[in-house]
Amino acid sequence: MAYDENNIFARILRGELPCNKVYEDDHALAFHDINPQAPVHVLVVPKGAYVDFDDFAHNASAEEQLGFTRAIGTVARQLGVVEQGFRLVTNNGAFAGQIVPHYHVHIFGGRKMAEGRM
Ligand code: IMP
Repeated sequence: MAYDENNIFARILRGELPCNKVYEDDHALAFHDINPQAPVHVLVVPKGAYVDFDDFAHNASAEEQLGFTRAIGTVARQLGVVEQGFRLVTNNGAFAGQIVPHYHVHIFGGRKMAEGRM
């Protein structure tokens, strides 16, 4: 799928739409999900234009991939969910439930997660 420059997260990254920001660095922006599914529900978005995990995994540079992974780790610590435990989720494609076509990782925490599959 071609990257849509006007998807909602691209517009947030460009500052055209607001977000409730929790963290930003050269590689990533993190903000609270507008429709939280857990007491802690934060989205971490890479700054590069990648549609989904598959696109990111194959086309992002090693520096971008390391930077993004580190950013997720930094945000999880900043949110205070590491000791208790937290869940990372990415939906890859519409069949998997992806709505916004800019790669993002959900951080869920603050409650006991169901065991096994979501
Ligand atoms: P997906 O299903 O993995 O694509 O998740 C997209 C997520 O983005 C959903 O959990 C939405 O609630 C969230 N979302 C959509 N628009 C906004 C927004 O403007 N700000 C923050 N979160 C949003």
